[in-house]
Amino acid sequence: MTPTSLLTHLECASCGRAHDAGLPHNLCACGGPLLARYDLDRARRRLEPAALAAREPTIWRWAELLPPVHPQRRVGFGEGMTPLLRLPRLGERYGVATLLLKDDAGLPTGSFKARGAAVGVARALELGIGRLAMPTNGNAGAAWAAYAARAGVRLLVAMPAAAPAINRLECAIAGATVRLVDGHIGDAGAVIAAAVAADGWFDAGTLREPYRIEGTKTIGLELMEQLGWSLPEVIVCPTGGGVALIGIDKALTEAARLGWLRGPPPRLVAVQAAGCAPIVRAFERGERSVTPWERPSTVAFGISVPKPLGDFLVLDAIARTGGCAVAVDDAELLAAQSECARLEGLFACPEGAAGLAAVRRLRASGWIRAGERVVALNTGTGLKYPDSAAAPAAAGGAGA
Ligand SMILES: [Zn+2]
Repeated sequence: MTPTSLLTHLECASCGRAHDAGLPHNLCACGGPLLARYDLDRARRRLEPAALAAREPTIWRWAELLPPVHPQRRVGFGEGMTPLLRLPRLGERYGVATLLLKDDAGLPTGSFKARGAAVGVARALELGIGRLAMPTNGNAGAAWAAYAARAGVRLLVAMPAAAPAINRLECAIAGATVRLVDGHIGDAGAVIAAAVAADGWFDAGTLREPYRIEGTKTIGLELMEQLGWSLPEVIVCPTGGGVALIGIDKALTEAARLGWLRGPPPRLVAVQAAGCAPIVRAFERGERSVTPWERPSTVAFGISVPKPLGDFLVLDAIARTGGCAVAVDDAELLAAQSECARLEGLFACPEGAAGLAAVRRLRASGWIRAGERVVALNTGTGLKYPDSAAAPAAAGGAGA
């Protein structure tokens, strides 16, 4: 039997109002983002974790827990089931006996953004939406451009002029319309809002449509399957717009309700760059939403988001799981990037390296305890950032 979606409705994460999932939606009338809800009781009866092994190793193996998309509209490149790697040498250096890395660098377009784009674009096609628009720091735009091209859907992106040049090229070569913005991603968001209002583009920005999160959720589902449904104590997520952490949290929550998990959830850690750390600041103040970060500046461009729409979802997930939020500066994350490449042969992106730097710091402070298992997330390939990586001569002393 072909697995089919058990999506029932969309629910506002702020006010709880239900929305018809059969229609295109952006935000709730109250301004809150909409989250996909499923018939999990039915999923529990219908879906055995053991049965998953026989399915194709792509994100669509989780069809029951994704929005309905006709197989012919599942436009993609075979994305999903990325490796969960052991980092024994880096773990030894950091004092973490079991350090694992969910490595999304090998996904189409080289970042985890492919997951959200694969589901978001396919679902847009299913709903008859032919023109998508979004602000991006680069990798999301690159991913959505590729999937939009494959689906025959038009895409408009607005991107800070300071974003990596390769991302601009990736968008342009796939036929997306690219508007460069002199400012940060919040300024790019204003450009998109104007285009949506004036020209009828559909806003596909982070959490402004409900299905990017669902695609991203597959990181958490894969992780659990790869670990045999036995979870680590800590999961570390590079956090800008928060889509990775929110998606992983949603996967863990749904899996727990399906009875697939035992014991307490992993403590979720949001990692930000010290040059743009609104989530960390709000966490330290005990606040549930962020105040916009002034003048963001970091080489970890992908997590430079001064005012994420999903701030409260990230902060709630951290609080609920007993996690934390931590900022690392550029020198620390570049040192971690270099160390990971030297000790493990893995050239992580700056955002992924920020997560590794956070592991080092949290273990040194005792927040990660001896013997705890830690999963970090490499959100993309370091190959896209040739200009920021520290040359061996400059980083040779780091930790040596
Ligand atoms: Zn609402």
